[in-house]
Amino acid sequence: MTASLRFDQIRLPPECEKLRQDVRAFIAREVAAGTFDPHRPGHDETHNAGFSRRVGAKGWIGMTWPKAYGGHERSFLERYVMTEEFRVANAPVRLHFVADRQSGPVLLKYAPEHIKMDILPRICRGEACFVIGMSEPNSGSDLFAAKTRATKTTHGWKINGSKTWTSNAHNADYMLGLFRTSPSTRENRRHGLTQFLVDMKTPGIRVNPIYQMTGQHDFNEVVFDDALIPDDHVIGEIDGAWKQATSELAYERSGPERFLETFYVLVELIRALGEKPDLRSAEGLGRLVAQLHTLRRMSVSVNGMLQAGQEPVVEGSIVKDLGTVWEQKLPARVRELAAFLEQGATNRTTLEEQLRFATKLAPKLTIQGGTTEILRGIIARGLGLR
Ligand SMILES: Cc1cc2nc3c(=O)[nH]c(=O)nc-3n(C[C@H](O)[C@H](O)[C@H](O)COP(=O)(O)OP(=O)(O)OC[C@H]3O[C@@H](n4cnc5c(N)ncnc54)[C@H](O)[C@@H]3O)c2cc1C
Repeated sequence: MTASLRFDQIRLPPECEKLRQDVRAFIAREVAAGTFDPHRPGHDETHNAGFSRRVGAKGWIGMTWPKAYGGHERSFLERYVMTEEFRVANAPVRLHFVADRQSGPVLLKYAPEHIKMDILPRICRGEACFVIGMSEPNSGSDLFAAKTRATKTTHGWKINGSKTWTSNAHNADYMLGLFRTSPSTRENRRHGLTQFLVDMKTPGIRVNPIYQMTGQHDFNEVVFDDALIPDDHVIGEIDGAWKQATSELAYERSGPERFLETFYVLVELIRALGEKPDLRSAEGLGRLVAQLHTLRRMSVSVNGMLQAGQEPVVEGSIVKDLGTVWEQKLPARVRELAAFLEQGATNRTTLEEQLRFATKLAPKLTIQGGTTEILRGIIARGLGLR
């Protein structure tokens, strides 16, 4: 029997509009001050300590977390609006984004109290950069095959092995790492992994760059050679991390950043086409905007359901699957529609520059945070089809 899907009809409440105006005004001031250029993604450094501190001072990091830990007790939908505005402006949120989206919520749920009191307020101030230490050379989609070992010693845990594709590790203060503490069991192959808070300054950690096709140094290999992690940096249950790693992935997959990463080419196309596009372009543009609108309604719905305490795992996976496939195809679709633009059309050069960058970036979109095939497996299982 198949299960049913449910996308609640959720609209953003009025307080979100006020917040949107505040975020836009802040971004406009930053752009005017030269912090970044919203029309040239890939041009500015995305990890910007001063910018993250100013975002923290506005109260826009840890927005939904308890005030006791430096948070602001606002809603998921308000966080949605903030995330959306920073994403479409191509703002340099790299330092705090992962901590805000997923590492902070994991610590909030599973870390010892003194760690929460120490680290969460620093995240909220935009002072602590986190990275995700899950993937290994032979363990990407199949996270539970991770082999990097954490071995108990009298002084803590010794880590040996390596993680790969670790985004932003060269700038990070901390990693939430998934390490093998016991072999898996016949009954449960997910057993035996434990999550650790790793201070990236720990002796025995080496970060080697991996360059992307765009030329950017964005991710890395992280090698552990007898790196000693204190006992109180175990996060959650020893050998039982599969439960918390799965819930961390739910945070990673549900936001508007999952369909807006190449959005700038659509904006630039609209600018280049001007107010009176020809019929063919207007039709193509209309189709893209309608698809985007639908994706956004679905994504807002998922966030509204999260706010209501539901667990829309299948619906979130559908939004990520449809969203990443859409944003991946967007540069090619925009290129087709731009083919008839005259050479001298407004912003033609900026559009060309953006298209080149977005085309090289696009392949990663359906891999990061769970591949299309993996998401479709989750959806099929959720619908009772496998
Ligand atoms: C830009 C970028 C940033 C990243 N940042 C991080 C990071 O910060 N931290 C981190 O830990 N990881 C990160 N990753 C890694 C990412 O999570 C993995 O690349 C991803 O999970 C896929 O794993 P893999 O590369 O080992 O591919 P594989 O798992 O080897 O998959 C190869 C192919 O086989 C398919 N496949 C695999 N298993 C199945 C299955 N059961 N059914 C059907 N098809 C299957 C996949 O869909 C894919 O097409 C990042 C990746 C990218 C591209």
